Amino acid sequence: MADGAPIDLVKTTCPYCGVGCGIIASPTGTDSAVISGDPKHPANWGRLCSKGSALGETLGRKGRLLTPFVDGERASWDNAMTRVAEGFARAIDDHGPNSVAFYLSGQLLTEDYYVANKLMKGFIGSANVDTNSRLCMASAVAGHKRAFGADTVPGVYEDLERCDLLVLTGSNLAWCHPVVYQRVIAEKERRPDLKIVVIDPRRTPTCDVADLHLALAPGTDVALYLGLFHHLSENGWADTCFVENHTRGIQDVASLASDYTVAEVSRTTQLSEKAITTFFDFFARRERVVTLFSMGTNQAADGSDRVNAIINVHLLTGRIGKEGMGPFSMTGQPNAMGGREVGGLANQLACHMDFDPTSIDRVQRFWNAPSVPHAPGRKAVDLFNAVADGQIQAIWIMATNPVVSMPNADRIKAALKACPLVVVSDIVPNSDTARCADVLLPATAWGEKDGTVTNSERRISRQRRFLSPPGLARADWWAVCELARRLGHGYAFDFAKPADIFREYAAMTAFENNGTRDLDLGALDDLSDMDYARMDPVQWPCPKDGRRKKRFFADGQFYTEDRRARFVPPGLASPKPQNHPLTLNTGRIRDQWHTMTRTGRAPRLNRHAPEPCVDVHPDDAHRSGLIKDGLAHITNERGSIIVRTNITSAQGEGSVFVPMHWTDDTASNARVDVLVSPDVDPVSGQPALKASTVSVEAFRPAWYGFAVGSAASEPDAAYWARAASDRGVRFELAGSQRPSEWRSFAAKLFGMPRDARLIEEVDEKGCSYRCAVFMRGRVSGAFIAGPEPVVVARDWLADQIGRVVLATDRHLILRGQPPDGYLDPGPTVCACLDVGRNTICAAIKNGAHSLNAVGDATGAGTGCGSCRAEIRKLMEVTRVPEKA
Ligand code: SF4
Repeated sequence: MADGAPIDLVKTTCPYCGVGCGIIASPTGTDSAVISGDPKHPANWGRLCSKGSALGETLGRKGRLLTPFVDGERASWDNAMTRVAEGFARAIDDHGPNSVAFYLSGQLLTEDYYVANKLMKGFIGSANVDTNSRLCMASAVAGHKRAFGADTVPGVYEDLERCDLLVLTGSNLAWCHPVVYQRVIAEKERRPDLKIVVIDPRRTPTCDVADLHLALAPGTDVALYLGLFHHLSENGWADTCFVENHTRGIQDVASLASDYTVAEVSRTTQLSEKAITTFFDFFARRERVVTLFSMGTNQAADGSDRVNAIINVHLLTGRIGKEGMGPFSMTGQPNAMGGREVGGLANQLACHMDFDPTSIDRVQRFWNAPSVPHAPGRKAVDLFNAVADGQIQAIWIMATNPVVSMPNADRIKAALKACPLVVVSDIVPNSDTARCADVLLPATAWGEKDGTVTNSERRISRQRRFLSPPGLARADWWAVCELARRLGHGYAFDFAKPADIFREYAAMTAFENNGTRDLDLGALDDLSDMDYARMDPVQWPCPKDGRRKKRFFADGQFYTEDRRARFVPPGLASPKPQNHPLTLNTGRIRDQWHTMTRTGRAPRLNRHAPEPCVDVHPDDAHRSGLIKDGLAHITNERGSIIVRTNITSAQGEGSVFVPMHWTDDTASNARVDVLVSPDVDPVSGQPALKASTVSVEAFRPAWYGFAVGSAASEPDAAYWARAASDRGVRFELAGSQRPSEWRSFAAKLFGMPRDARLIEEVDEKGCSYRCAVFMRGRVSGAFIAGPEPVVVARDWLADQIGRVVLATDRHLILRGQPPDGYLDPGPTVCACLDVGRNTICAAIKNGAHSLNAVGDATGAGTGCGSCRAEIRKLMEVTRVPEKA
């Protein structure tokens, strides 16, 4: 299958989150496929979430980058790679190996990562390889290494189902890792005694299943865990035998924790003493405890310390490495784990080996490499700083969009514009980062790639190709090997296919290992091409001697020199000066992925949250003068954005939440990372993406608008947000000044071919405007504007595009409302089954008073279950008519 034609049913892996769900793809044409969950894959057993189940809608050539570009002109691969090689060679010759860098991505396959790391660290002689996984879980890596001596995830997903207490800390599992969340809620339904505690300043949808939600003050996690440590120590819950025989350093943590009485924890976290005591009691009295942590823990200036504070309480109680217990890091990206395995972080050398003399020597001998660096390279923020100040002269960015996702994002854009050589590999030509490229290389997309990924429980799965790459798109591993050849290192990069790379990678993990390193894939180093093609999901470690184990550390043996785990005293973050009144939290929403280059193509995924918004507490909204469904202007010293206002008591007072997904391609001004401070955790280098401060005020436009069209150009408006719909495109709009002529504005928006007919309504003062455009009797556009946020049946209106509408019904298009008797489904709540809010409310009014009843009546909530909290909320607020 590696390079052959697509076949009928292909088992592959989802390209989105770190759950790593197995998928069965059934191609239905050259660029389409039917997608379903793989019932035999141990990560998901057939389940998929809304994003995974919509993957089939994201395929296709539309909008793809099909050919290389050099300086904005089409080019052959040969010319493009010549330019890349010359630029890298010149920088290395003139300024040394540390003047070049790769910035990689958790979207890459392990094989891509391996060759990029090998080229930079073994043959160019620099360690300047970093990855967007730095933004996601570098603090987990640092915490693991400090405590265990290696970046080891001890447990497996099954532990989340076998535990008696599941602590979800800094994790909105329901939206960010929906299939693991489904596994948890299924277990909770089967075993109501399973206690679930959510620790998060926000009341996220994950709280729907929680027995206890601790909405602690942002940044006070360490205090909470020190308090728990103190409580467990003082009340006889420590496993003294485990601590004595298998750990070191308890005294340092114990003396630090001794100040953290329940009263002190309450004062610091602003939680009630009762809530704290309940949590401590849950933890103390249940042997089987899993603490799952994710970006809310990692993306902080004290992220590594938070991770160690969590690990400390598990070491104290000996709850690690056994069924149903242990700290558990959920990664954000599909192959963040594979990247850190091969060495894709600048502070790792290769295959879980560091920059110590023994490892450097071993790596040099294994690769027969001319120059292995003796010190770590630059981590992401530092790396782009070096681009900005000219120390890095050539950078190759693969499968990621740092102009949107890095902190202080406008500075990243400026740095790339000034860099002598920026190479970008992507699947689309118009990402914010691609626009900064001198050389733009067309990469293969999901469905066209072939290789492996590792999920959050150390399970390696195959991503298999089931579609032919369009145009001149090529695999990233091939492009890296091409650069290696042109730099004179071809002999070490003579890989013909991903299986060749995988075998070398597996052999390297086993090289002089003998059980001294956790990562060992020795049993896979001699897979035949056929074995690799057929490879089933496999968990590491899988050494050659066959002694596999499901969990690490059950034997109390760690990877430090003396094989004992380390207690690490966490530092206490001193509060930073608040330049602005509100703390900015950033993160994911349910139905989008990263910068929406894929999920944004699926109309049903756009219907749940079609535009960028800010979640803000009602009291903060009042103080800032925000109005329901109005717009907010969010500013700080680094920049400003304009987004829709979502006033909700789920947001804690004093902080706001803005999603990370919108780009300059999908909104006028909503790249939230322009506001984010470049502060990093000093140990892990991970940026504090959830702790910048901002001011928020109402953005008061002269008009608001909504437009749908079969096609529409970028509007000339102070605010716009674009989303793909089933029949074209939809825009939310707002303008600072009323257009001098509404008609010209609409004509410019829709392009107005000569045979188009426009009908319109303008009120006397010209404050409100409605128009509809028809082409040969079919609706091709509609635009409705007024001085207040526009109230129309948006999904219905979007669905009218391309339809023939009788002259007598054209007023409905102008009104933006369906005919009487038609139920507008309303904004999507359940994306898996495509069920809208109005449909659910109608079912509730008709007697569906439980989640199951709503599911039976409408299908909502019966897919991935991530919308169940929203359905429950609708059940609370929907007024059921009295019986006559
Ligand atoms: Fe993909 Fe959803 Fe599974 Fe994550 S939970 S891997 S996004 S299907």
